Amino acid sequence: MVSQQSEKYYTHNGFLEDIDEANPTNKWYFDFKAMPKSHQINLDFNDNFTNSLIMFINFKIYDDNYNFIGATGIGIEISYIDEMLSMFKKKYNLNVYFLDEEGKVVLTRQNKNTPLHIDDMQVLKNHKEEIISKSTDIIEYEKNGEEYILKTKYIPELNTYLIVEAKLNDFAKEATQVFYINLGLSLSFTLIFALIIMFILKNYHKKLERLADFDSLTDLSNRHHFDKQFEHFLALHKRDERPISLVFIDIDDFKTVNDELGHQIGDEVLVKTANILKKSIRKTDLIARWGGEEFVIAFIDTHINEAHTITQKIKESIEKDEDIQKILGYNIMASFGLTYCTDYDTIDTIISRADKAMYEAKGHGKNRIVLARSKTIKQS
Ligand code: GH3
Ligand code: MG
Ligand code: MG
Repeated sequence: MVSQQSEKYYTHNGFLEDIDEANPTNKWYFDFKAMPKSHQINLDFNDNFTNSLIMFINFKIYDDNYNFIGATGIGIEISYIDEMLSMFKKKYNLNVYFLDEEGKVVLTRQNKNTPLHIDDMQVLKNHKEEIISKSTDIIEYEKNGEEYILKTKYIPELNTYLIVEAKLNDFAKEATQVFYINLGLSLSFTLIFALIIMFILKNYHKKLERLADFDSLTDLSNRHHFDKQFEHFLALHKRDERPISLVFIDIDDFKTVNDELGHQIGDEVLVKTANILKKSIRKTDLIARWGGEEFVIAFIDTHINEAHTITQKIKESIEKDEDIQKILGYNIMASFGLTYCTDYDTIDTIISRADKAMYEAKGHGKNRIVLARSKTIKQS
């Protein structure tokens, strides 16, 4: 995210850099700001994240009065396209790459000899205007004594030109007439185009689904994903009377960690805590990051007594964790609200009971487990 007012660039790890119009790697922001569009898809490199190409999906942020106050976006690494482009070369002897509006190569199979700008490509630089154009004519030319044909297609979604280049001889062996050459190239072209878009969409979709279901800091399920999974087990509980216990966990005095040592250290402690929790449960149990420093675990097929024993072990593991001790110089504690599922429960009622028990634990001095007991609930 970039803030317009402070001209600072933040990533999920915190502050990255001050942006500067004179810095070429920040150019995207100033170009984007100047555009009338509220979003853009952009292929770019960014050494701060990864060596491979990234597809950035950026959105403008406006305040209530529709004043531009910054930009936010996500980047998806698309290194897998390298492999696909290499496959086109190996199998069909087609050179496939992408150019941006200025003629910079934004996507190609990783080959150190490939020039990175059309201006540096022998012969092709003379055809720059035809190649970087929205028409899809076939261009013919000679390079190193061999005849080549090239087709270009503008992809508006990526604001990029897809280029397919082939040696004419490779085609001429099989079909001598220009018509067939044209047809052959167009067909391979369509196939390549469809494949690339398919790959992009497939991967993009998978990543979006993951983003929607998992918390990016701890990699635990988020609340929404937990709800979806829990629904299924709640149905099994009601049908087969399978016991489920649930614990609500809130780290004690976590604000102090942030206040004294900074948000980044706070984040590290959250990741460590999440890992302790992950390690302490069975594969079949459900776990989620419920909110900031709150976690929920559903112990599937587990009676409350057993869940209580596991929760005690979790409590000790957190208190005695050596990594956290090293990071903070002291250990964190947590409060736990434990309960079990009854025939009358919905997700909301069981969570709210566990949450209440957790607050009771806070009220009684924190660093403890409170079991939600109710005369009206019976464990099945
Ligand atoms: P209590 O013992 O009553 O739970 O006190 P607390 O300080 O843990 O609870 P409070 O709800 O007052 O504060 C929670 C803090 O958690 C505030 C917020 O800054 C911090 N927090 C929430 N999400 C994140 C996060 O993703 N990263 C970091 N570093 N801190 C977070
Ligand atoms: Mg809290
Ligand atoms: Mg807390």
